[in-house]
Parts: sequence; C-alpha cells; structure tokens
Amino acid sequence: MAEGATMTEPTEEAVRAEVRAWLQANWSPDLGLVEWRRKLVEAGWGAPSWPRAYGGRDLPAAMTAVVDQEIRRIGAVNVARTGIRSLAAATLLAHGTEEQKVTFLRASLTGEHAWCQLFSEPGSGSDLAGAMTRAERKGNRWIINGQKVWTTSAHLADWGLLLARTDLDKPKHQGLSFFLIDMHQPGVEVRPLRQMNGHASFNEVFFTDAEVLPEHQVGELGEGWAVATTTLMHERRGADGVGSVGAGATATERQGRIYDEERAEVATTMEPYKWYPQRAGRVDLILKRAKETGAIADPVVRQEIAKLLILARSAEWTARRARAAQAQGGPQGPEGSLGKLAASHVARAAARVHTMISGADAMLSGEDGPEKGIIAEILISVPAVSIAGGTDEIQRNIISERVLRMPKEPSIDTDRPFRDVPRNASK
Ligand SMILES: Cc1cc2nc3c(=O)[nH]c(=O)nc-3n(C[C@H](O)[C@H](O)[C@H](O)COP(=O)(O)OP(=O)(O)OC[C@H]3O[C@@H](n4cnc5c(N)ncnc54)[C@H](O)[C@@H]3O)c2cc1C
Repeated sequence: MAEGATMTEPTEEAVRAEVRAWLQANWSPDLGLVEWRRKLVEAGWGAPSWPRAYGGRDLPAAMTAVVDQEIRRIGAVNVARTGIRSLAAATLLAHGTEEQKVTFLRASLTGEHAWCQLFSEPGSGSDLAGAMTRAERKGNRWIINGQKVWTTSAHLADWGLLLARTDLDKPKHQGLSFFLIDMHQPGVEVRPLRQMNGHASFNEVFFTDAEVLPEHQVGELGEGWAVATTTLMHERRGADGVGSVGAGATATERQGRIYDEERAEVATTMEPYKWYPQRAGRVDLILKRAKETGAIADPVVRQEIAKLLILARSAEWTARRARAAQAQGGPQGPEGSLGKLAASHVARAAARVHTMISGADAMLSGEDGPEKGIIAEILISVPAVSIAGGTDEIQRNIISERVLRMPKEPSIDTDRPFRDVPRNASK
C-alpha cells in the first residue's frame, strides 16, 4: 500500500464480483472433494473472515454470507463447517499457537480432520471444572489417563479437544489444561452408547497412557478452563435454534464425482446428528399435523399452537439479533445461554403441542407411527436440548450471575487444592 493511503473495506459488490470470477475460473465438479476445498481455502474463500495465513481473506464477517451465496449460485461445494470442527476452529482461532492454527484450521475446512469434544466425565458434567482425567508430563510427552463420557462423534473423530487435570494441588479451575489429542492411537478406546431414541451418537472414551505432544497444548499450562469456556460459549451460541453443530450439511442430488464424495461425507459425518431436528421439537410440523388430524378445529389446541409459534418466533428473532451484533464485531458473550435456554423451552413446548395434536398415536414409533415415527422420536429426543452443552439450570445460573449480576452460588470447593476437595469416585 502506498505511503499515506488508508485501508478501505471492500464493498459487497466488489467481493461478489471477485469471488464470482474466481469460481468461474476454478470450479469443476470433476475435482475431488478435498482437492476442491484445498483450492477454495488456498484462495481464502473457505472462511473469508479468517486471517489470510489460515485460509481466509481478513474480510468483515458479514461477507461470508455473500461468498456463500455465490458458491451456492454456481452449484459448487463449500468447505466443511459441520460438527465439532467448527468449535475446534473457534477455539484455536482464539487460543491456538501460530503452528496449531496453520496445522489445524485449514484441515478443518477441507474436512480432512473430524473432531470431538472430550469435556464431560462420569463425575463432572455440569461441574465441568471438577474433571479428573489426568495429564502428567513424562519426558517429552503428556501422558493421559482417565475417562470421558457423552462424547458425540468420538467414533468418527481424528482429533479431540481434551480438558484434563495437570495439577491436583491448585484450586479446581486452575489445575486444568487444554490439549488436542490424536484419537487414532492405542491408548484411546471409544465405546458407543445407545440412547433411548435408538440412535448411538455419543460414546464413552477411555484413556490408558495415551500420549499428547507438548506442542498440542492449547493456551498456558493451568489455563484450560478459560480455553474450554471459549469452546462452550460457541457451542451455546450454536444451540440457539438458528443453527447448531449438528445442523447445516445437506447433500445435493447433483451428478458428478465431487457430489458423490460430498454425499458420502454427509452420510457419515451427519449420522450422529440425524435426530437433532427432532430434539429441537419440529415446530415446522405443527400446523401441518394440526390440519391433517383435524385438531386445528379445537380452540384449546389452537390456543397452544399460537403460544408455541409466538415463543418460537421471538426466540428466533432474539437469537438473530445476537448473531447480527456479533457479525458487527460484538463479542461472544453470555447471551448464548439465553438463546440456549429459549431453544429448550421451545423444544419442550413443541413436544407438548405435538402430543395434544396426535393424542395416544404420538407414542407409536417406527414406520407405522405418525410422520413415520418422527412424532414419537420428538417426544423422546427433546430432553436432550435441556442437557447438552450445559443444562437449563446451569444456563440460569450463568444468566443470573453474568447478565443480571445476582450474587454467585455459594462455593465450597474453589478456594483450596483440588486434591483436598471431597468428591465421588476419588482415587
Ligand atoms: C445430546 C448430547 C450430546 C452431548 N455431547 C457431548 C460432547 O460431545 N462432549 C462432552 O464433553 N459432553 C457432551 N454432552 C454432555 C453434556 O455436556 C452433559 O450431559 C451436561 O453438561 C450435564 O452434565 P451431566 O450429564 O453430568 O449432569 P449433572 O451435572 O450430573 O446434572 C444432573 C442434574 O443436576 C442439575 N445441576 C447440576 N449442577 C447444578 C447447579 N450448580 N445448580 C442447579 N442445578 C444443577 C443439572 O441441571 C441436572 O438437572 C452431551 C450431552 C447430550 C445430551
């Protein structure tokens, strides 16, 4: 840039014209999926708001939608954004070393790495800072021992975001560190769990002398809680009903090598999330079902439908307002908790209204049930929204403390060495 010149942000028209010309010159459905995504990332169109060094173009966040529109318009395939990889990317952008960003951010966009989140343990879910999985430094390695649970997609993951205890003599929040762990190694055992809705999307994960390289520690030693908080804030934002880690990937019917590869990828990586639309309550089916069954004629049912639709719309608009504020550069804050809590109210209200509409038929699962069993799946899937990513009660605690500035919950275990804190399953 010439001396004295000022940086101006490119206009929407300029970005649109540039990406359009680039796509015209480069897009081909005969390319391999990863080959094409590497090109997109190399040119910076995969994550336009990221820095150039990691596959972006330093553009304002609002330009991502413009680039995405152009990619869709020409029928091209976009980068991989679904699953825990989006949380891994957000966490590394905020806390990763230069080397970690260069290594992992591009590979998350090309879809070469699938991720899982190794936070919850049998004795620490809501009380996440009570995690007991140990990371001990031996020579030039971290050695990991312990157990995680509820780990979505661990059976498909190449890498895991791991929260582990590195110091038992520090108070509980200060003795945790954050690591990236290679899931394909002998000390990592993944055992699938079957849920009451029949799906098996999460797992138990056991670590027995598993290894982590020192360069795969994220953030400073003992600062794992701050790093994990970043991951969780992004997860909760994604749980506001506008979009989630389990939403977004649908394969097209188009013909060509790249579309076949994309369909295969979606079928595998989205398998654990197949029931996620049902866990959100399927508000979209309410009016259709009410009309089909004749329940729409019942004034009490109509009243409940109206209440539900008002709740769902206001939750959506609140979430969109928070997203818009962030797109203008606002920080990711506790409003994620508000959105998550609202989404869980909507899901439970929707399940109740579906039951009013379908009556006892709502209990029929499988092909013979209403909507081929979807209604029954809604009823047994919605409780998950009130648990995953932090329970409703935990969101209320966060809102009361950080939004309403109410006094903190009394704590009996944060001001002494974690070793001395009485707990279940202590060794
Ligand atoms: C679909 C799904 C996917 C998940 N995926 C992952 C994943 O990929 N990775 C991962 O690490 N975890 C995952 N989880 C786990 C999830 O984060 C935990 O289940 C959640 O944090 C709750 O922890 P818990 O199950 O141990 O319940 P507990 O913490 O034992 O809570 C039990 C009950 O006590 C209440 N409670 C606890 N503490 C308080 C308090 N201080 N104040 C008021 N009430 C309280 C809770 O609200 C709850 O009702 C997933 C969960 C679900 C349902």
